Amino acid sequence: MDPADLVQRYGERVTHVERVPAREAVVEPWPDWIHPAVRDMYAAEGIDTLWGHQAEALHHVHAGRHTVISTGTASGKSLVFQAPALTGLAGGRSGSSLHGNRMPTVLYLAPTKALAADQLRRLAGAAAFARPATVDGDNSREERAWARDHANYLLTNPDTLHHSILPAHARWARALGGLTHVVVDECHHYRGVFGAHVAHVLRRLRRICAHYGADPTFVLSSATVSEPEVFAARLTGLEVVPVTEDSSPHAARTIALWEPPLMPGTDPSGNPTAGPVRRSATTEAGELLTDLVIGRVRTLAFVRSRRGAESVASTAQRRLGEIDPELVGRVATYRGGYLPEERRELERRLRSGDLLGLASTNALELGIDIAGLDAVITVGFPGTRAALQQQFGRAGRSGRSSIGILVARDDPLDTFLVHHPEALLGAPVEASVFDPDNPYVLGPHLAAAAQEIPLTEADFAVFGPRSAEGVAALEDAGWLRKRPAGWFWTKRERASDLADIRSSGGSPVQIVDAGTGRLIGTVDGGSADSTVHEGAVYVHQGDIHVVDEYDVDHGIAIVHRADPDYSTMARSVTEIAVTETERTTPWGAAAMSFGSVEVVNQVVSYLKRSTTGGGILGEELLELPARTLQTKAVWWTLDAAAVAEALEHDDVPGAAHAAEHAAIGLLPLLATCDRWDIGGVSTALHADTGTLTVFVYDGHPGGAGFAERGYDVAPRWLRVTRDAIAACECQDGCPSCVQSPKCGNGNEPLDKAGAIRLLDAFLAGAPT
Ligand SMILES: [Zn+2]
Ligand SMILES: [Zn+2]
Repeated sequence: MDPADLVQRYGERVTHVERVPAREAVVEPWPDWIHPAVRDMYAAEGIDTLWGHQAEALHHVHAGRHTVISTGTASGKSLVFQAPALTGLAGGRSGSSLHGNRMPTVLYLAPTKALAADQLRRLAGAAAFARPATVDGDNSREERAWARDHANYLLTNPDTLHHSILPAHARWARALGGLTHVVVDECHHYRGVFGAHVAHVLRRLRRICAHYGADPTFVLSSATVSEPEVFAARLTGLEVVPVTEDSSPHAARTIALWEPPLMPGTDPSGNPTAGPVRRSATTEAGELLTDLVIGRVRTLAFVRSRRGAESVASTAQRRLGEIDPELVGRVATYRGGYLPEERRELERRLRSGDLLGLASTNALELGIDIAGLDAVITVGFPGTRAALQQQFGRAGRSGRSSIGILVARDDPLDTFLVHHPEALLGAPVEASVFDPDNPYVLGPHLAAAAQEIPLTEADFAVFGPRSAEGVAALEDAGWLRKRPAGWFWTKRERASDLADIRSSGGSPVQIVDAGTGRLIGTVDGGSADSTVHEGAVYVHQGDIHVVDEYDVDHGIAIVHRADPDYSTMARSVTEIAVTETERTTPWGAAAMSFGSVEVVNQVVSYLKRSTTGGGILGEELLELPARTLQTKAVWWTLDAAAVAEALEHDDVPGAAHAAEHAAIGLLPLLATCDRWDIGGVSTALHADTGTLTVFVYDGHPGGAGFAERGYDVAPRWLRVTRDAIAACECQDGCPSCVQSPKCGNGNEPLDKAGAIRLLDAFLAGAPT
């Protein structure tokens, strides 16, 4: 479909069309120092030259500089760590020196086992000099022993490093003492509380390497994010050089941003409701898919939920049935759980062009091999630019131009993005963040480190400014004892068991299927009360369940598969108190602060809301305990006089509440978090500040770095929040601007116009 045609046909729904021209590759020769056997291996794969960014990164790695490469998908990032690492193993000059006559080794870390297994397959051509082995929870005893005694290229994950390798480092001394390179692949996954844990696992690794006399070069790969060197330095505790200029080739592509139109709201009996609502993104995508299929454009639509994917496909099939029945069978749905032969059949039909339209959940990303499409429709921003680029990258067969269309869902971030294409297509603004000084994370890793090798004061430089305090607390609690050689672990237990690196607060709650007794997943303890309370409608990987019973004491929720015509929304009461103000920036009549807070939250009831347009169906009371969370927050205050002037005719609590919701919705633009990772409280008069205050806090004990990022980029954050609200054409607020799906107050009160005036008053004195 011609891009100009899109706008003509769909008018204002298309908020932006941009033609991204084809990019010619910048080609460089291989540097001399790469071992001939390694070059032969790549030559056998058809790789004879390098792209510019690969050559630049190899140059840094060879010079022994810790390096992060942050370029697009399919830009050859693996080569940047493989080639120097394999050169070292082949006996060449890899740029990293070893003490004595140790045999060189490589450690590769991936966030998932699947990624490590994929890397293992890609090392098949290096069998002459590399002895790779995956080390993870799936190993047999023999495999583990072989890896320990013979492998020189270990592929593992932070979990195995934390629980198995570091605590037993003496048995891994050969491998750890020979390390020339440590690879941290796809490092943007290590964000929030998980990121803080991994940062300390890497510090423990560095300390043990030093103990055995190794000084490896760290090579990190990342999706395109803002300031990757800052993130990589925080993750490793080292100075890291960034390589960000992508010089790989790509075909021309058109990108279109799409916003479903507002329609008058009606309830099932046809009566108008409170305000207009947007047409659903899945209905829009279904109609768009219809038109593309009629135009014989091979299209893949990504939808978040299984129900959404089915709705997109059935909308298209129904409309095709009215227009051209022959085409109905050429549209299908893909979901996780297909058998391999069913999957291959779908792949075959897509490749041959027999299938013209496929609607899929994001699960398709894992495990299906599709390329060579003409168009991709992404329904709802998938959370990060990297994920969106990956989805759009599915289209564009053999250099032919393609089209990627983002259809906005009804939320503030999507609304902002379709009106601000530069945020999607310009320089990256989202940053991966976490807080390594979180005492809830730091403490357990100090304990684990002490059990590995007794801690000394010299280690405080490795573990950061809060480590002296952390060690003192562990000593007071009797976990560590000071002796002349340092602090020793005193208990029989394994100290590494104290840190559950994948959990982000509270013990996880297990979700069990009532029919089969099968464990279908877990939710974090911190969010369980509001997501899996009795009666909750809970969506797990696109499948919908209703919770029959929630056992708070044992951390179990019993659920059954269902398809109710309503969703649920927990209501809660929240109190917040400032325990320490760490930083404040005055903004004229306003001020922006960051520090520690105590949040007390209690889920008290839930609302049932019709998913077919019937509004609120009822409220059920719940009896759940109050929960206390010590965490970090950013908060904004405004003088009473400025409040009175800005909000003369407005509902003051409603304005603050609306601004809080939109700000939470927009923070994921600037920090790679989900709006569910953060919480908010707003009040016209707060006891600790004595004035109007809006708090946004990290939803995890000790903080996760998101609130801090909000403080650091506050002027930009509030400006995009203001613009997102102002850009929404609704009258009094809708889910695209100031309503929130997770509001503990059922979205009451909200004042959209007041929120804009309030944000203007904050921004009047903001630094530029
Ligand atoms: Zn709106
Ligand atoms: Zn709210």
